[in-house]
Amino acid sequence: MIKANNPEIKSWIEVKQGSDFPIQNLPFGIFKAQGKSPRVASIIGDFIIDIAELNNNGLLGNISIAKEILENSALNDLMALGKHISRDLRNALSDLFNAENAILRDNAALRNKVLYKISDVELLLPVKIGDYTDFYSSIEHATNVGTMFRDPANALLPNWKHIPIGYHGRASSIAVSGTDFFRPKGQTKAPDAELPSFGATKQLDFELEMAFVIGKSTNNGDSVSTKDADDYIFGLMLFNDWSARDIQAWEYVPLGPFLAKNFASTLSPWVITLDALEPFKVAGPIQDPKVLPYLEYQGEKNYDVKLEVYIEAEKSEAYRICESNFKYMYWNMNQQLAHHTVNGCNINVGDLMASGTISGKDPHSYGSMLELTWRGTKPIQMPDGSERKFINDNDTVIMKGYCENNGVRIGFGEVKAKALPSK
Ligand code: CA
Repeated sequence: MIKANNPEIKSWIEVKQGSDFPIQNLPFGIFKAQGKSPRVASIIGDFIIDIAELNNNGLLGNISIAKEILENSALNDLMALGKHISRDLRNALSDLFNAENAILRDNAALRNKVLYKISDVELLLPVKIGDYTDFYSSIEHATNVGTMFRDPANALLPNWKHIPIGYHGRASSIAVSGTDFFRPKGQTKAPDAELPSFGATKQLDFELEMAFVIGKSTNNGDSVSTKDADDYIFGLMLFNDWSARDIQAWEYVPLGPFLAKNFASTLSPWVITLDALEPFKVAGPIQDPKVLPYLEYQGEKNYDVKLEVYIEAEKSEAYRICESNFKYMYWNMNQQLAHHTVNGCNINVGDLMASGTISGKDPHSYGSMLELTWRGTKPIQMPDGSERKFINDNDTVIMKGYCENNGVRIGFGEVKAKALPSK
């Protein structure tokens, strides 16, 4: 067991029941306190840990990290040091904040230098994202979309069970949770219209996804095997791949999504390390037909992460519309990465790869409005009496995720963003 994952450890920082951030989580993020520059952080309970300040005060034991790596506006340089450093760092934090350890616990002056209340700081986009790839790896989602957009009898295209399908997205419009965005405009064509028209999307949607960030680069020509993929995957976040369905339906043939997807995507601020998620590995679905040898894998490579989506209408309470789970994914991350690099495509630290919409078998587990309302034919009744076929102006969509076993809950926090009226 990774030392910091020990479920027996308690912290001297209060962690409320149901908190996503017990001492066993220790994710990494970037925070900014008022009047200060951005820094690398972790979190326990409701307290932000200034890792740069711990380092400056010699509190990280034997770990040697240059000042500028931690006084930084992104995690890229820290990730690039290698997993052994981030693993040592989580273990050092676990020791420092262990209820038994008096060094910080009993030193108020030092404590005040390194801890911030979460309400007093701003959380920034944790990673400087180089390239962004989005997969399409939920068999339920691909089947639902194929049924609605094409042909119910042949919902899955012939390649789907052989290739982890994906496309290259755009990194410029990926923003951290809390960043609102404008309803996109574009070309659409109603099925009965002769010609396309231009205007704000009438079918704004979310996609419930998880994303992993690359922590180790490769050279062009190199491939990452399913076995080695864990070394390259630094950690995971929640990801909302905002989508405009009417724009998508008209533009996607033959090269796939373009403007229907690249106007905004929202990422949660904490990178939960693959190390912290180790206790929550589970077996994935059986893959039939058998995959090609480079996509075969050993062991449990899916993760049991409970996922929820809420819509918060203006002046209304957040209302849960979906409960899904990351473990439903047909293609796992190791296979996605092996496929992505099998042709020699090089990857860089900070590249982001998203899972694709995470839907399950049950209609309440569908990870998009497109599926939940079956393209608007089964509207969702909201508690304020209104109904939703897609996302309205000024709706906020909130996604949450957490793993739980042995009395330990490792959470992802949330990813939220509001859809503002078209600009
Ligand atoms: Ca997507």
